[in-house]
Amino acid sequence: MHSFQSVFNEDAFPSIVKQHQTQITQELAALNRELRADHLFLGVRSNKQIKVLVTADSDSVLDGLSYSLAGSPCEQVMNGEACCVDRDIQKKFPRDEALKHFSTQAYLGAGIFNENDENIGILVALFTTPQPNVSELLYAFTIQAKLFAAHFQKYYLAQRTHHQLALLEAVSDISNTGASEYYPATNQLYWSEQTYRIHRITKGDPITPERAMSFYCENSRKQIERNFYLLLNEGQAYNEEFQIIDNDGQKKWVRTSGKVELDINRKPKRLYGALEDITELKKTIAISDERAARIQNILNSINDAVISIDKDGIIRHCNAVASRIFGFSQDELVSQPVEILMPEPYATNHKKYMVHYEKTGNAKIMGVGRQLPAIRKDGSVFQMELSLSESFDMGEKRYVGVIRDISERLEAQDTIYNLAYTDSVTHLRNSQWFQKEFQDLLLRAAMRNEYVHALLLDMDNMAQINTRLGYSNGNKALQVIAEKLLFTIGHDYELYKFTSDSFIVLSKRTFKKQDLHYFEPALIENALLNPRHFEIELEGVRWPLSASLGSAIFDPQSQNFERVISVLELAVKRAKASAPFGVCHVSGDGIEEFDRYVAIKDKLKPAIENDELSIVLQPQVNEFGTLTSFEALVRWHSPELGWVSPSDFIPIAEESHAICDVGNVVLEKSLRALSMFIKKGIDASIAINISARQIILPDFSTSLLAKVNQYAIPPQMLMLELTETALVLDIALVKQTMVKLARFGFRFSVDDFGTGYSSLAYLKELPISELKIDKYFVDDICEAQSGKASQIVDAIIEMSKALNVTCIAEGVETPAQVDYLVAKGCKRFQGYYYSKPLPVTHWLDHTFATFPTCHKVASKLL
Ligand code: C2E
Ligand code: CA
Ligand code: CA
Repeated sequence: MHSFQSVFNEDAFPSIVKQHQTQITQELAALNRELRADHLFLGVRSNKQIKVLVTADSDSVLDGLSYSLAGSPCEQVMNGEACCVDRDIQKKFPRDEALKHFSTQAYLGAGIFNENDENIGILVALFTTPQPNVSELLYAFTIQAKLFAAHFQKYYLAQRTHHQLALLEAVSDISNTGASEYYPATNQLYWSEQTYRIHRITKGDPITPERAMSFYCENSRKQIERNFYLLLNEGQAYNEEFQIIDNDGQKKWVRTSGKVELDINRKPKRLYGALEDITELKKTIAISDERAARIQNILNSINDAVISIDKDGIIRHCNAVASRIFGFSQDELVSQPVEILMPEPYATNHKKYMVHYEKTGNAKIMGVGRQLPAIRKDGSVFQMELSLSESFDMGEKRYVGVIRDISERLEAQDTIYNLAYTDSVTHLRNSQWFQKEFQDLLLRAAMRNEYVHALLLDMDNMAQINTRLGYSNGNKALQVIAEKLLFTIGHDYELYKFTSDSFIVLSKRTFKKQDLHYFEPALIENALLNPRHFEIELEGVRWPLSASLGSAIFDPQSQNFERVISVLELAVKRAKASAPFGVCHVSGDGIEEFDRYVAIKDKLKPAIENDELSIVLQPQVNEFGTLTSFEALVRWHSPELGWVSPSDFIPIAEESHAICDVGNVVLEKSLRALSMFIKKGIDASIAINISARQIILPDFSTSLLAKVNQYAIPPQMLMLELTETALVLDIALVKQTMVKLARFGFRFSVDDFGTGYSSLAYLKELPISELKIDKYFVDDICEAQSGKASQIVDAIIEMSKALNVTCIAEGVETPAQVDYLVAKGCKRFQGYYYSKPLPVTHWLDHTFATFPTCHKVASKLL
């Protein structure tokens, strides 16, 4: 349980009394009507003195007086023992000047304790006449002192709550989290101030669910409506990110969540949820623990009950709040064993606990607030915070408990905090929580110069399960897996739900560089990927699910949250290559490589916009060395990264739509080159590489046609190179596009032929005019052990004949390779043997470029 960071103490006591002076004076006066003391006052400890703060009689001579504790009955009280003297007190405490001064005969004194059980003040009654029955009053007097203390505590908390409400406003401003509540029975919707603020509408403006949903952007409205429907009708909680447009027309990202509270007929009574403006979230610093603690404090409702029991556990006294909280009348409670307020097994354990305490004086509960379940008269159980202290009543031991009903507070906590920071499916902490904790960990590790281990576990086949068995089964599977993973990681790691089907595992420890040698990440990696965790039984059937794992050790000095995440995501992507149960572990160099990856990814889009891409042309020639065509190859010179090889950036571009932008640049530049060739009378076509993503774009053919028309280039002059992978991506769609384009005269070449999946049957259906033998095979045909390579090359050439298409060999570097290929019947060549790819301008100036003729052909010609 959270304890308060600052407690009611000697410093706070005077100001609290001052603020509530009238009321306290009245309470003291009321007490004194029973006691009939000559002086009744409350004092605060101040060094070795007591300072009188307030008296029962508003114009008492004692007001403001300070007196020394040394040798006084009050000293005894301040040492923890309530004190009563019925007569002749000055004889017993001869050193006490104040007693003399006020001609005191009899005395009652009891301590004022704070929640830490520290005695910070005193309640004193002085009598100028002997009081034979004063000892009978001591118990009630002690309880009065405790109630005073409880009141002060309450005033103090109220004051702090007041400060903290202002703080909550500020905090809720910073966190941008509002709350909402909806009562289906009356169709009433309530928003917190912050929720109004996020929507930028005036507080109190009429709101309805329909109006609330109208703020959501068009593309998310269906989903939020569905969420609302499912929440209302099926009790299905949600927690999702959406875009809204506020009343001022501003677009915002919000995280919306909803939960339902059911009535006794299991009908929805109340829907409630949180709304967090996360537009700035990625940038804002995550919320600290301190804030969480404050929110909790603020949400505290201050309902204190006071119950005193004797050493046998029998209730001796209780106040009105206690009877209200527990639903018993005060009469019903008094004389009953305290166990009637506890559910099992607490009730049974309680007796043993008391006996143990009596014997040993050991108690976990004394003095500190503890959260425990309690039971009401009607049998309902609720959470209470209990703090116990000991007191003495005429020599008999009593326990006084101050009880606070914290169920509302826990519920409030649940609504706002848990909704925003836990995953509704697995109840694990979510990615936001992870972000917050991870940032703390990085900071700590960076300060100590230590390393951090983080892992990202991504399910391989969740989508399949979701579509085949429905989301609720998918969720069930995730719950089971989460439990097994939790069990596996033990105490050294923490588990978070990251995206809908991935988990983050974070080491709680950080590692010194020299210790990394001994650290074996494989232990946890293998434990996490144990296939048994992923074998799930759903609807009576065993489903062997699987996952892939990215694991990385970071030097926090050079990392930030976003980079760590992207490294982990990339590691997972690599791990997927060896799915199921692939692992990719990165550290050191691996991370630098990822850095370059990230740099390329980030800079590619601006590079396209800034025209940093260009093309080079590599000639394609026939066996006589006559130039027939070129292949256009893209080049990128980045001001920051220098020359970036297409082998590095094309695969990255292919991960997103960026490859289509690259393709468009190459197409434009190739068309421009072709129109210059036409002007110069150069008769050569250009082959361009078309990636899989491009060919399946719905407007690929129309936009290609529009471009060639714009540059007035006959489609025959363009050869489109597609890889086998691109061809089989969506056979029907690709075929349709190819057939359409072929009708206009475009030609198609199958690039890297022989490296992928190829079947004569489907090749026959496509309008292909060329097969391109990959460099990989050409490299080896003249090697001693060329068996495989030359067989494949032979087969490809045979296939091209069978399909009645031409055949071109790429990556040709030696005359021997040309000789071999010509002998087998290949008629066209491309490679460094003829020329490297060179800029367009080069070819404009070398219109009559000549290339070597094939030796064998040449000798025949002679
Ligand atoms: P690719 O389409 O198979 O292109 C052939 C690659 O082999 C080119 O590398 C070319 O420069 C290289 N090459 C040609 N002849 C020889 C030779 O005799 N010896 C050696 N060692 N290499 C030779 P580059 O330009 O680095 O391109 C690499 C890959 O990047 C290309 O392989 C292609 O997959 C991709 N790429 C290049 N430009 C584009 C483009 O405009 N669009 C798309 N989608 N991909 C492109
Ligand atoms: Ca190519
Ligand atoms: Ca190729």
